[in-house]
Amino acid sequence: MTNKNHAEVAIIGGGIVGCSIAYYAAKAGMDCMLIEKNDIASGTSSRCDGNVSITDKDPGFESHMSWKSQELIAELQNELDLPFEYRALGSILVCDNDDEAEAAEKWVKTQNDSGLKFNFLTNEDVRNESPYFAHDIPGGLECETDSLINPYLFCYSLVDKAKQYGLTLKTNAEVTSISKKKDFTIETSSGTVTAKKVVNAAGVWAPFIGEMLDLKIPIEPRKGHILVGSRANPVMMRNVMEFGYLMNKFGRERIADPITEKHGVALVLEPTDSQNFLLGSSREFVGYDDQVDMNVVRTIASRALRFFPSMDDFNMIRTYTGFRPFTEDHLPIVSPVEEVPGFYIAAGHEGDGISMASVTGKLMEELMQGKEETIVQADPLRFDRFQAATT
Ligand SMILES: Cc1cc2nc3c(=O)[nH]c(=O)nc-3n(C[C@H](O)[C@H](O)[C@H](O)COP(=O)(O)OP(=O)(O)OC[C@H]3O[C@@H](n4cnc5c(N)ncnc54)[C@H](O)[C@@H]3O)c2cc1C
Repeated sequence: MTNKNHAEVAIIGGGIVGCSIAYYAAKAGMDCMLIEKNDIASGTSSRCDGNVSITDKDPGFESHMSWKSQELIAELQNELDLPFEYRALGSILVCDNDDEAEAAEKWVKTQNDSGLKFNFLTNEDVRNESPYFAHDIPGGLECETDSLINPYLFCYSLVDKAKQYGLTLKTNAEVTSISKKKDFTIETSSGTVTAKKVVNAAGVWAPFIGEMLDLKIPIEPRKGHILVGSRANPVMMRNVMEFGYLMNKFGRERIADPITEKHGVALVLEPTDSQNFLLGSSREFVGYDDQVDMNVVRTIASRALRFFPSMDDFNMIRTYTGFRPFTEDHLPIVSPVEEVPGFYIAAGHEGDGISMASVTGKLMEELMQGKEETIVQADPLRFDRFQAATT
């Protein structure tokens, strides 16, 4: 535990977003402290998948932001010392019916028009991808630039390198209050810290940090379940999602049975580096209750069988849940807060925090240093877009 109690920048939250900010800010020479109530990656960033994807991003600003993040993560693969199971294999998305296949074809065209590397897949292409696929899948699409990481290891790798650039790490330190005079005073469960700037990177808990400064931050927890399977046979080498995942994520209409609809279930199958696979996922607004719901687990398993019928005798090892930090317009908040100078928010990445952590970290470093040129446009991510929407 460090005795240092002042920093230029205090970052609250040691998830993938906070770790990425800590890395880029420390690398840029800023004197940073990362404050985490438990340990690194103990929140959503260790209860998720590891897709660094564009496939599931809305074409336009969101997909370009993810693309930038993919470029950064490829660089980080060389810059960081500790490996984080980076695999740049692309990913695929499969369709349940002809309507979805038609929509997928349009999705490919829109993404191609904005310069992204998407390809349409026929039934035959899908069957060539894996012999485990059901034979009646009408088609799908491929995004060539998608990659996979182990988010947990990535957080540790970022912090390890940031420490080499001078980062101070304070774990088991829960922030309990924040006040501001000239500097910020941050009370934690393991002592008081002062800082000139504060970044709220507390994921689904960002609203509680906001309340400490009378700020209403519109982020809600959107629960997801994952099953961990033992990969007896190499079902897939790269990540696969179903087209309905996009519909669930963006709250659009989808043809699905009532129970699949109720729990917001859509197939995601991610092969891990250790030869297991992650099977997901669900989307539900049920507050901060992190209990595993066996009805949801069963629905996820049976949805997987629609696409991989011969997986019915595979062994499952465990299940877990996590909370996606949801915002109404599906974009994160990466922004200064005008009414509290020196206070910043980097939260609200919903199901995209792994994909977008790197670009978020870089952008936040640039915003804190007052740079005019930023890696992506900062305006669509401003906190006051929500205030403007309510006035
Ligand atoms: C099932 C599931 C699957 C997902 N799959 C993907 C995927 O494949 N690709 C993708 O891009 N995204 C995915 N996501 C989304 C992604 O996991 C999140 O967007 C991301 O992890 C959020 O990171 P974060 O750093 O903002 O939050 P967190 O990882 O939750 O970090 C916030 C940290 O703040 C700490 N904290 C909270 N309060 C305090 C306090 N008072 N004092 C100090 N510290 C505090 C917490 O302990 C926590 O460690 C998935 C999410 C789920 C649930």
